[in-house]
Amino acid sequence: MSEDQTVRHVCGISGGKDSAALAIYLKDVRKLTNVEYFFTDTGKELPEVYDFLERMESYLGTEIVRLGANRDFDHYLKLYGNYLPSPRQRWCTRELKIKPFERWIGDSQAVTYVAIRSDEPAREGYISTKSSIRAVFPFREDGVTRADVFRILEETVGIPAYYSWRSRSGCYFCFFQRRGEWLNLKKVHPDLYESAKQYEKTDPVTGKTYTWIQGLPLSELEAQDRPVFDGVLARSVKPKSWQDQLSTVAVRTPEMEAVLNGDGEDEGCLICHL
Ligand code: SF4
Repeated sequence: MSEDQTVRHVCGISGGKDSAALAIYLKDVRKLTNVEYFFTDTGKELPEVYDFLERMESYLGTEIVRLGANRDFDHYLKLYGNYLPSPRQRWCTRELKIKPFERWIGDSQAVTYVAIRSDEPAREGYISTKSSIRAVFPFREDGVTRADVFRILEETVGIPAYYSWRSRSGCYFCFFQRRGEWLNLKKVHPDLYESAKQYEKTDPVTGKTYTWIQGLPLSELEAQDRPVFDGVLARSVKPKSWQDQLSTVAVRTPEMEAVLNGDGEDEGCLICHL
């Protein structure tokens, strides 16, 4: 693929820390002025993600193009036989993230900037199935690490607010979230937790249950577990740094430790969570 003016340069922003830092890096360090930024919107993202996108647009001084699927999540849920998506049946990513992106690229030749860091093990996930799209990895090329990512964000747009209670971006009902994060969702966004519960069903004929966590309906999860934190929510106290944000969580959960330690970040998919 020749590097000429007809090649589009695109960078997906998921609402997560790495892709946000990469967009800032491309602007401030690589001094690229021709990058098209995009966000694939499932319509089920966390409110914090939409707020963060606005901050990003303001900092980048350019629009982040919102890409949407032709039909919404509920349509595809029906299409897939009411099977809730899961790590093994990730139709949500395919229908609501990948296809809109590939439609947007169309027949263009494109370079896509991917925010995999230099300190990460090899990650699997979608980059592109089209030969006309070439992925490049500026953080790997330049030795940018997790600590650098947090520094870039702290010095510019700040850390996305949901990091005080959840370890990654994505849909509010994302099945990649851990049990403690589900309970944090209940605490922080009780309406969204209730909406997620509404998707769980038992087939009256077959008795088969459709739950986000295999074998554990959310109604049982909330009955089994105690709330994972009781403190003042991080976003209401305007913390100075991401460590401060996490320290405002009264009970440090394994999920919060994972965020601090960087563990478990290789789960999930690149297009949703990077
Ligand atoms: S964030 Fe989770 S639920 Fe949403 S599209 Fe991605 S994998 Fe599916």
